[in-house]
Amino acid sequence: MVTRIALAGNPNTGKTTLFNALTGSSQRVGNWPGVTVEKKEGQLKGASDVQIEDLPGIYSLSPYTAEERVARDYLIQEHPDVIIDIIDATNLERNLYLTMQLLETGIPMVVALNMIDVVEKNGDKVDIDLLQERLACPVIGISALKGQSIEHLIQAALKTSQEAPEAAFPTYESYIHDAIFKIKEKLPESVEDYRRHWTSVQLFERDEDMWKQVKLSDDKKAVIEGLIEACEEKGDDDSEGLMSATRYDYIAKIIQGVYHTADEEKQSLTDKIDAIVTNRFLALPIFALVMYLVYFIAVSTIGKQGTDWVNDVVFGEVVPKYLGGYLDSLHLMPWLNGLIMDGLVAGVGAVIGFLPQMLVLFACLAFLEECGYMARIAFVLDRIFRKFGLSGKSFIPILVSTGCGVPGIMAARTIENDNDRRLTILTATFIPCNAKLPIIALIAGAFFPHQSWVAPSTYFLGMGAIIVSGIMLKKTRWFSGNPAPFVIELPAYHLPSFTGILRTMFERGKAFVKKAGTLVLLATVIVWFLQGFNWHLQMVEEPNHSILATLGRIVAPIFAPLGWPDWRAAVASVTGLLAKENLVGTFGVLFGFAEAAEDGSDFWPQLAHAFNPLAGYSLMAFNLLCVPCFAAVGALRREMMDDKLTLFAVVYQCVLAYCVSLIIYQLGMWYAEGQFGFWTLVALFILAGFIYMLFIKKPYKAPKKTYDYRPEPSK
Ligand code: GDP
Ligand code: MG
Repeated sequence: MVTRIALAGNPNTGKTTLFNALTGSSQRVGNWPGVTVEKKEGQLKGASDVQIEDLPGIYSLSPYTAEERVARDYLIQEHPDVIIDIIDATNLERNLYLTMQLLETGIPMVVALNMIDVVEKNGDKVDIDLLQERLACPVIGISALKGQSIEHLIQAALKTSQEAPEAAFPTYESYIHDAIFKIKEKLPESVEDYRRHWTSVQLFERDEDMWKQVKLSDDKKAVIEGLIEACEEKGDDDSEGLMSATRYDYIAKIIQGVYHTADEEKQSLTDKIDAIVTNRFLALPIFALVMYLVYFIAVSTIGKQGTDWVNDVVFGEVVPKYLGGYLDSLHLMPWLNGLIMDGLVAGVGAVIGFLPQMLVLFACLAFLEECGYMARIAFVLDRIFRKFGLSGKSFIPILVSTGCGVPGIMAARTIENDNDRRLTILTATFIPCNAKLPIIALIAGAFFPHQSWVAPSTYFLGMGAIIVSGIMLKKTRWFSGNPAPFVIELPAYHLPSFTGILRTMFERGKAFVKKAGTLVLLATVIVWFLQGFNWHLQMVEEPNHSILATLGRIVAPIFAPLGWPDWRAAVASVTGLLAKENLVGTFGVLFGFAEAAEDGSDFWPQLAHAFNPLAGYSLMAFNLLCVPCFAAVGALRREMMDDKLTLFAVVYQCVLAYCVSLIIYQLGMWYAEGQFGFWTLVALFILAGFIYMLFIKKPYKAPKKTYDYRPEPSK
């Protein structure tokens, strides 16, 4: 009797090499009937009664490619006596997916753990005994290339084929396992024993061919369909997705502790940290704490000291003494002196003063990114984003946007799904960028000197706006659709290089100073001019009579419900559209930065007197969420590639900012001061609208897509 051995495995695992080693030259090459997939068969060297079939290299037994169908049909219809599953020992997780499906066929099997020479060369170790025990089938470590242990492998394969042990099916998640066994009971007698398990799995996965092949009565069909639907309900995915997920879960259990890398210590430390940091319940609180600390260090403590020093020493002593003294000695015209001291120094100085805080923030964020923590956050957020239809991929543009929205928006290019990409572009700039940091530091410093939660709260406000917008907009036709699977390589944690962090700090700091010296400078001069002159181009003593004041008063009433009816705040918000730092520069000019600095104090008290703290917070919230600067809007338009959507995005951002600020101010005043009026009602109404949109069932249902869960082939 002839023994038939089938060689199965992923591409590039050494199948051909092994086949050649086993058969010597006695191979025949042809095509499988009907398809041009190469077919190789041969006899085992020196044993004419052992036939070896080299199956095409495949990642899974799903029926999506010609290769997969060939392998599948061969295994199920020809039913070889034994399978040699050849897997790449350095790539266990990926390779074992096919192994799981091969085990499901119930055909006796031996695993050839190939490339064992590479493992040894790397100084790594594989616990073959443990793997064998968990897979419940013989595992032999070999090197097909070097001919190592091939004899042993073939002995094991022949022995297994003779003994034909009872199939050891993988044990998947219990409710899926139960469903498959119940389906098995419903199969007609005509399905042979050895095929029953595989058939049940295929029926469970809703494989069309299998549903046609198996002759099932209508009521049995309905019972099976009911079993599948119950699982889908429970697992919140289609049955095919559930199967592939449970296979991967099982694989994760199998490989635990099987492969030991040379830098095991580093890896095990990483695993220990990850167990906490990516824990289902702890991940988010830890992330919140980390971001709180980052802002606390940058805005409230270390960075703050640097900023205070710059303001006290540089703008309080050095600049007035030297520059001021020099200008005085020149006996310039008063307006020119005013332009330089009250315009340029005040505006640019107010912005530059925040440089130390920004540098510390850059350093903290660069550290988190380089040490590998942020990659974990993408992974953690994927779980949350997925619930409302985005994937962890959307976090990367958000991460980039913490530096600047322009590259952040461009980073969304990596998102293949058009709707998801657009939604990410629309929302990414809600996260505070570099330019918004001076606003945060100014408001936090002026209105909330002793409340360290205020600065970090802006990060969460931004994150909240992204998530809330995501949930709401996903329910519209423009942005609907299911997220694609998200795969991210989690690197081992490592200490970032000091120079790398310095470089990031330097580059971002440079860009910031450059902007202060150009855009902010320009805006400052314009603001200084408009606030210093009236419509007859005469200098005015009192800025309230200036051109700027008249212009500002036109827009100011719009913002009155937000708590800041002052024309200066309206003007500052408008200049912020050019560059967000302008808001601070404008305040510097309008609230007398230069005078205050000369007295050795800040202009903050002036500012804090003009509004109540709640209005300050609402002003900050509005400017954080409102349309980003022109540069970012330009990037948004280029990347949206659709003018209507761009317009929608800009309007949406403005309206959201307005609504959020209104809710904060009006409900805050109601709570704190008991003030209740028309606008409180409006705020309550809008809040109810948000809640309705968040919880309403999807009015627009996207057509269901199926995904191919096969892991990516290696390069
Ligand atoms: P197939 O795609 O599965 O047929 O894989 P091949 O037999 O074509 O092998 C892919 C590559 O892996 C070739 O470059 C082989 O030389 C190499 N290779 C195969 N087996 C081994 C092994 O045991 N050790 C090492 N180091 N390389 C191997
Ligand atoms: Mg090959």
